[in-house]
Amino acid sequence: MAEVESYDFEGVKILPGTGQEVSLALGSGPAGNPRSIPVYIIHGNRPGPVLALTAGVHGDELNGVSVVHHLIHGDDHISGTADDRISRADLAGTLICVPVVNIEGMLLEQREAPDNRDINRLFPGKEDGNQSQRIAHTLFENVVKRADYLIDLHSAPHSRTNLPHVRADFELKECMELGKSFGTQIILHSSGPNGSLRREAAKIGTPTILLEAGTAHRFEIEAVHSGIEGVLNVMGHLGMIEREIRLPAIRLLVKRSKWARAEAGGLLHALVKPGEHVQKGQKIALVTDPFGEETNSIESPRTGVIIGLAINPLVRAGDPIANIVVCSKAKWTRAQSEWDSHDPEEESIDDEESLDDV
Ligand SMILES: [Zn+2]
Repeated sequence: MAEVESYDFEGVKILPGTGQEVSLALGSGPAGNPRSIPVYIIHGNRPGPVLALTAGVHGDELNGVSVVHHLIHGDDHISGTADDRISRADLAGTLICVPVVNIEGMLLEQREAPDNRDINRLFPGKEDGNQSQRIAHTLFENVVKRADYLIDLHSAPHSRTNLPHVRADFELKECMELGKSFGTQIILHSSGPNGSLRREAAKIGTPTILLEAGTAHRFEIEAVHSGIEGVLNVMGHLGMIEREIRLPAIRLLVKRSKWARAEAGGLLHALVKPGEHVQKGQKIALVTDPFGEETNSIESPRTGVIIGLAINPLVRAGDPIANIVVCSKAKWTRAQSEWDSHDPEEESIDDEESLDDV
């Protein structure tokens, strides 16, 4: 017997122990077509918190979309089979999944909504505002305000890629706890820009973290996997599912990190990968002329680990090439190879240049 009532969402009743597709209406489009934000709700049999997952706020960032797919239906994309990640019967609480917030941006293969605005600068939105403000408002009123916790899934823009890492506001204890329970080796301090989902949600008392994993326009298996494991870790931490939380032996709490930049424009050939450890002064990329002859090189300004990397070969002077977090090789090797820790070692890193300068 269920210990909880049905969950009401926009006039739909979701029975305990079930999952259901619902949607949030956004008014009609140019052809009179109905527009909406798709939502999938899994409502458990037992009482527990409401966790919301949002993906595709930036329409071209797709790894998070795949993370949500795997969590709703399991690896075979069919619910009710043995590989399901979340058992509807055993769940405590409610999971509100928004696989793609910015559907029209996704169809246009772009970050912004069709009005070319960045929805993630317009929260909490405006009921009678422009298109993007209305999308932000609809999501904020109907999903964010219902949620006790929120995880917003992103990737780097198409010109760069990110080693999967969580961003959280270190000043807010509950956000920090959530960030730590996700289980990435790197956690970056960031309260988010004005109008970003995580900043505005935290402001109304919904602790929120953000995952940055991989690049845009792709489903990348490793990035998707890190998102699935991280969300399940958070759900275990919140008591929504039974789970042995897997944490790395060491985590790096990064207040600020350093970008290596191109000193001259040209065509970029990266010599390193995200997650790779580099020494100070090590050549990490070279820049060539149109014939492929080396005209410049980029050396690492730090000994540390690459967590962000340019992947677009076209660079101009000043472009960010690699984001490097200070860390010794021995520590990084341990952080990558030893898991199943219950009480990770922590190292605080505060380098000279803030993330927001990118
Ligand atoms: Zn994004």
